[in-house]
Amino acid sequence: MAIAAVALLGLAVAGALVWRDRRGPARPNVLLVTIDTLRADRLGCYGARDATTPVLDALAGRGVRFETAVAAVPLTGPSHATILSGLTPVHHGVRDNGAYVLPDSVPTLAEAFRAAGYRTAGFVSGFPVDRRFGFARGFDHYDDRLPHSDELGWGEYVERRADRTTAAVREWLEGRRGEPWFAWVHYFDPHGPYDPPPAWASRFPGRPYDGEVAFVDEQLGVLLRALEQSGPLARTLVLVTGDHGESLGEHGEDTHGVFVYDSTLLVPLILAGPGVPAGHESRVVARLVDVTPTLLDLAGLRPLGVSDGRSLRPALGGRAMPDEPAYVESLYVQHQLGWAPLHGLRTAAWKLVDAPRPELYALREDPGETRDRTRDEPGRVEGLRRGLQALLSAPTPDARSEVDPEVRERLAALGYLGGAPAGRAGTAAAAGSVPAAGRASGRDPKDGIGLINRLGRGVSLARTRPEEAVRELSAVLAEDPGMLLARRFRAMALAGAGRHAAAVDDLRAIEAAGLLSGDDLVVMGSSLRALGRRTEAAAALERASTLLPRSPLPWLARGNALLEEGRVADARAAFEHVLALVPDHLEALRGAGDAAFVGGDLAEAGRRYGRILEVQPGDVRALVKMGVVDVRSGRGEEGLARFRRAVEQAPQDAEALLYLAGALSSAGRLQEAIPYFERSLAASPRSVMALNGLGLARLQLGDARGAAAALGESLALDPRQPEVAKALADLRATGGR
Ligand SMILES: [Zn+2]
Repeated sequence: MAIAAVALLGLAVAGALVWRDRRGPARPNVLLVTIDTLRADRLGCYGARDATTPVLDALAGRGVRFETAVAAVPLTGPSHATILSGLTPVHHGVRDNGAYVLPDSVPTLAEAFRAAGYRTAGFVSGFPVDRRFGFARGFDHYDDRLPHSDELGWGEYVERRADRTTAAVREWLEGRRGEPWFAWVHYFDPHGPYDPPPAWASRFPGRPYDGEVAFVDEQLGVLLRALEQSGPLARTLVLVTGDHGESLGEHGEDTHGVFVYDSTLLVPLILAGPGVPAGHESRVVARLVDVTPTLLDLAGLRPLGVSDGRSLRPALGGRAMPDEPAYVESLYVQHQLGWAPLHGLRTAAWKLVDAPRPELYALREDPGETRDRTRDEPGRVEGLRRGLQALLSAPTPDARSEVDPEVRERLAALGYLGGAPAGRAGTAAAAGSVPAAGRASGRDPKDGIGLINRLGRGVSLARTRPEEAVRELSAVLAEDPGMLLARRFRAMALAGAGRHAAAVDDLRAIEAAGLLSGDDLVVMGSSLRALGRRTEAAAALERASTLLPRSPLPWLARGNALLEEGRVADARAAFEHVLALVPDHLEALRGAGDAAFVGGDLAEAGRRYGRILEVQPGDVRALVKMGVVDVRSGRGEEGLARFRRAVEQAPQDAEALLYLAGALSSAGRLQEAIPYFERSLAASPRSVMALNGLGLARLQLGDARGAAAALGESLALDPRQPEVAKALADLRATGGR
């Protein structure tokens, strides 16, 4: 009896432990790597000639490679929501970048690992998976620190290079002892704009996308070697995939996001590590909804409560699995332009794209999806369409959120049309009925891909190459004068190009249509300011900041306008408002420093500039301003050292060179000062201050001719300088010409 009871008890205990013990006592670490914008066919192990991916190829060699893996949506945010939840966008609700937050009601892979006692960490490299969009849930540590970009005036830029991401992961791994961990590492490099590090750019001339892929492959190698050398690689399950592919011109699409062809939906899927046989290739069609169930299964954990995917574990051992259809969608163009949405169903052999003019492709004989078969196969079209409608009839959680101008700009820099229009949050977003920006035309995206490409180029260049952006966007508006987004970004580009009156005209047209947004008002305020219409500018910026109380940009613009008007206290308050929203916002620190400086509070100005230099030690403008604070506070040598550092950082920077020259001059080191005045003038030839500085230095050194030449040039540029005129007259009287 007692023996039987003990035996029964033993069975019960064994039963309770079955999840844990199926693969031995030690639970594996799990490393999920997503490489953004990675086409499967760029990998050697997927058949690429001139392969640039030895690390991924070797990983496939010691694990299992799925020949076909299908993303549900060709957009970074929505696709990662699918990877991390096992749900299609219909069920997790994230339909576009920037305008959605993954709802709390959606359980995630990271939460499941954390609940099972794993340490969890996410390291992401692109703005669309920033924590503000809900991706950090379930992670003990979420590293979405992107590098700062002074040039663009943003607190942080839009992407982090793979080497910096790898370094952050390694640092975290060094602290891991004992407990199993789950880490998600997201590399962003292959996403446009394509800009590989110089060594990779020169290895792949004319192929910058391949250069980016090769660089990520190398960095993945660095990460895997580090795991191998410190030990845990043998206990680590590794899964590498992509969030979507890249069209690279196929079907007329430049990048990704618009269409649901295989060019942007096929990604690699490679697994290796404990429980995964080596060197196997599976023909089972894998889907990104399958990633979460597969990883949980391999780690011996229970599946999430709801799932659109399935564990692919049987396929790893070479077993056949019936193919499950893959739901695919893109609502991007509907969302941004009011054109038709695209939904599709993809089986192993067929794909239906449900558009105003539907398309059907026989994938085995026509993998390039070039021959529409809808006319030959009406029955198949109907069957697939019914399947699609059943999937779309499910309720979708409302995940929409407000888009602020900063989000819009950061997405635009990545070539995305820039999030949903502001002020449209909270609308019920049932599948297929997402409210569109401006007019809803229902136009088929394939009938306007040239226009969309142009629009995308114009939007992404609006800040950096404004004249080019104006040309692209004017061409778009010539074809479709009602396209709000094109007009909005053209106004921004016109302002960037200094064509402020034209920018205001575009914005007035938007206002007349009743569609002026908070960020339009920011551009309007800045352009009116540049035109000298200060009262109107102040009114526009005040309206913008009232409309967008939680957005830094309008408050920054308002602070700068107030500072220009000499309203120092109000300007300071505006900059403080930004710093309360985003601590260490570099432009707000700069503005607050300038306001303190103008108000005569040198100590406070020094604190603000000093903080910029803590966050970003090489910041040239902060170095120069801090140097000025030093000089004014009687710390001449420190000021001089800062100006020198600024010149080292930016040897062509006219302002840094001028301040260094001026400080040397004031210290009586005239010979030393002269070449810096000259370099400053080379960088900015019409600088009256540099000409005057050079003239005075030459005068003190006894070079009367040289002095007269510099001062004469200065006076020609600005005749209203009585002191310079007098000095020049004296010089000429004494023989300097
Ligand atoms: Zn992506």
